Amino acid sequence: MIDFSISEEMTMVVKTLKRFIETELKPYEAEVEEKQFVRPELALELKTKAKALGLFALGMPEESGGGGLSAVDMCLCEEQFGWTKDALVRRAFGAIPAALENCVGEQRERYLYPAVRGDIGVALGMTEPNAGSDAAGILTTAKRDGSDFIINGSKHFISDADLADSFIITAVTDPTKGAKGITAFLIDRGTPGFTIGRIQYMMGLRATNHCELVFENLRVSEAQMLGAEGQGLYQALSTINRVRLGMVGGRCIGMASKLMKMSIDYANERKQFGKSIGEFQMVQAMLADMATEIYAARMMVLNAAWETDQGMDPREKVSMVKYFASEMLGRVADKAVQIFGGMGYCKEMPLEQMYRDARVYRIFDGASDIHRMVIARSLLKNGSHPL
Ligand SMILES: Cc1cc2nc3c(=O)[nH]c(=O)nc-3n(C[C@H](O)[C@H](O)[C@H](O)COP(=O)(O)OP(=O)(O)OC[C@H]3O[C@@H](n4cnc5c(N)ncnc54)[C@H](O)[C@@H]3O)c2cc1C
Repeated sequence: MIDFSISEEMTMVVKTLKRFIETELKPYEAEVEEKQFVRPELALELKTKAKALGLFALGMPEESGGGGLSAVDMCLCEEQFGWTKDALVRRAFGAIPAALENCVGEQRERYLYPAVRGDIGVALGMTEPNAGSDAAGILTTAKRDGSDFIINGSKHFISDADLADSFIITAVTDPTKGAKGITAFLIDRGTPGFTIGRIQYMMGLRATNHCELVFENLRVSEAQMLGAEGQGLYQALSTINRVRLGMVGGRCIGMASKLMKMSIDYANERKQFGKSIGEFQMVQAMLADMATEIYAARMMVLNAAWETDQGMDPREKVSMVKYFASEMLGRVADKAVQIFGGMGYCKEMPLEQMYRDARVYRIFDGASDIHRMVIARSLLKNGSHPL
């Protein structure tokens, strides 16, 4: 028998999150969408309230002060996060790069614990103008100078860079070694030679800002290395399964569930030809497809998350989740707009923003094409499906 039950404790956490999102975050959704930022005093208020309820840094390990939730439990939380705006989720519940777990010694006091307490913000900078999907193709270099490194280069699209106090970045320390010649560094805002560039405004996810980072002869000591030299990609990606399952898989399910709920309500209310549009079989087909696809994605997410919790490394399944859940969200968002007709396209309804927000899930954290490539390569190598 497969036990799909959720613990009483987790049921309470999900209920508390649902209530918090409804009462504390929802009232500000329109404001942050319009202003494209979360007011600092609002951000502080939300974080303080979430912390008081034990809802901050839920996915970070308990020994670092976080909630210590399992991958499955974190996916259940992310489903709730999908019912509101990404920027509000980040400000209230934290957006801490899981790669910080790799901090050692004094780095833990300086970066990990303050980030988990919400005292500092940390962003993860890997992508460069010339290297996105090809994360090993970066041009930023870190040249050794005694016990220091001199970093030159740039990053772009870095989420929360406008607010972050510190950054994990990747740089090439040995150009002869490819992916194994990349090292991760912890760097601080305000260090001479490090500039946070312009905000790059996006189609959606408004109020979560993404910026360029510029390094011009930025000097950092070797104590700022996250992990060993040449281990940068491994360090930055070591926690990627959990991130993809939660922040993409779980989040897409939550977003799609909200779109479906709105569509069901509208199909019941909206009347044409003297009937509610939900009585038309073609509208019913769209609702049925939405529900079926959400259910399929949810089972995939929970299964891969459960395997992750058992210490397995279901990376092909995680790629399937990343690919299927994000594409599923795209199809659900498209159907929702169709069911709402002109109102779905109109800025007076939140649907058009949800449609725009949904689009990026097929691009970041590995575009769909990259994940299909990973899945296919594994099939061809292993000759079977990793069920
Ligand atoms: C909103 C947003 C937030 C982001 N936040 C961060 C962040 O916090 N930190 C960070 O480091 N990065 C971040 N990124 C960057 C993100 O991870 C990259 O955009 C993503 O990895 C894709 O890289 P790219 O944009 O350079 O596209 P490219 O790599 O140029 O890809 C363009 C197209 O080519 C396809 N393609 C590329 N290679 C192949 C291949 N081998 N086979 C088949 N198709 C291929 C891709 O699938 C895609 O369709 C963010 C991006 C966005 C849009």
